[in-house]
Amino acid sequence: MDQRKGRRLVLFPLPLQGHISPMLQLANILHSQGFTITIIHTSFNSPNPSSHPHLTFHFIQENLSASEASTDDLVAFVSLLNTKCLVPFRDCLAKLLADVEEEPIACLISDALLPFTQAVADSLKLPRIVLRTGGASSFVVFAAFPLLKERGYFPIQDSKGQEPVVELPPLKIKDLPVINTRDPETLYEIVNGMVDGAKVSSGIIWNTFEDLEESALATLRQQFSIPIFPIGPFHICIPASPSSLLTQDQSCIAWLDKQSPKSVIYVSFGSIAAVSEAEFLEIAWGLANCKLPFLWVVRPGLTRGSDCLEPLPSGFMEMVDGRGHLVKWAPQQEVLAHPAVGAFWTHNGWNSTLESICEGIPMICMPCFTDQKVNARYVSDVWKVGLQLENGLKREEIEKTIRRVMVEKQGEEIRSRIFRLKEKANHCLKQGRSSFESTNSLVTHILSLET
Ligand code: UDP
Repeated sequence: MDQRKGRRLVLFPLPLQGHISPMLQLANILHSQGFTITIIHTSFNSPNPSSHPHLTFHFIQENLSASEASTDDLVAFVSLLNTKCLVPFRDCLAKLLADVEEEPIACLISDALLPFTQAVADSLKLPRIVLRTGGASSFVVFAAFPLLKERGYFPIQDSKGQEPVVELPPLKIKDLPVINTRDPETLYEIVNGMVDGAKVSSGIIWNTFEDLEESALATLRQQFSIPIFPIGPFHICIPASPSSLLTQDQSCIAWLDKQSPKSVIYVSFGSIAAVSEAEFLEIAWGLANCKLPFLWVVRPGLTRGSDCLEPLPSGFMEMVDGRGHLVKWAPQQEVLAHPAVGAFWTHNGWNSTLESICEGIPMICMPCFTDQKVNARYVSDVWKVGLQLENGLKREEIEKTIRRVMVEKQGEEIRSRIFRLKEKANHCLKQGRSSFESTNSLVTHILSLET
């Protein structure tokens, strides 16, 4: 029987690692459901099409200058993309729609942070579904931005950081998902644009699952009158497909093979977060002093204003003497699945958080900006599957927190809780369970959309 659906879907990711990967994973999920997939992508950060032979790629020229093609100020970058992509994206989509030789296009699926695509889709009479690559709990907070602004929470005053956000327990003021930027008003505009754009779309797809974010999903279903599809965790729905923009250094797997079970701390802060040189040194000393094996991703750009390994204390590698292994970029999912890994010191990007949950690895949380702060609070205070470095980066606290997770009783309790969550993550993808059924509903919904 022919399982193909006779419909094309056009997908448009935000061109950042943490957004491209889940969009490509979604592409694979929908392809396996019988849809033909076309990806429109910026030239900036373009993935390698030959790694995805079953998907068709079209690259647009968004013409970012060298200084614009930088994520140093993420707010400015996302804002610029929403302006600069407009014409090339519209032209590309119009051309695809006009191609009568190909299967008809059922809808556009674009990243929530590219709300300009809603007006483009409307003008071409094409339904738009949104992919939100972050969690549902943080989206509830983004949706509350106008209220929070009205009640005086913004701009955040550091002196009030420990106070609760009474409207959104268990968040503290310091957990509100903001980011340093030259222009805070643009941040509010982007957040409101993302939420309002999602509200008028034909549905929102979430890389999450009911058992993890039941309460946030229920809130969103109340607030939004459009269908919501939590169909994750994406990366365990389908076989892995390479979407890494940097080359993953496989040497760490052979190194992990030589370590004892659950003995290694894996340390990675994702693709964008950066620390000061002083913080970098505290991390290094914290790792050296805890006397446990560690695998540390020191990505180019991790330390502001410095090249990869320059700021390491002199003699550091000799001092940790085979106990530490550093790479520029790791095969993270493989690392987290390795039996030697006992904890993940993470910035709590949503992908990293989900990947850790799916492998049952306890977390040490060091959120840097935006939704990472909300994710970390849920990890430490709601799901209770990790501990947060609450008081900045100090080597003594780092050492203490690592030991609490890795060797103390508290760590054992965390490990058994995250193991139960891992089981739930796998369970929800089985026939009759929430993400499986939600995927079926999504397919039916897409096929019912009128173009
Ligand atoms: N990642 C990786 N190798 C690394 C560090 C990260 O492959 O050394 C991947 C990780 O598996 C995740 C993504 O990069 O899928 C990072 O996404 P996340 O949402 O966690 O953070 P972001 O980079 O968006 O801040």
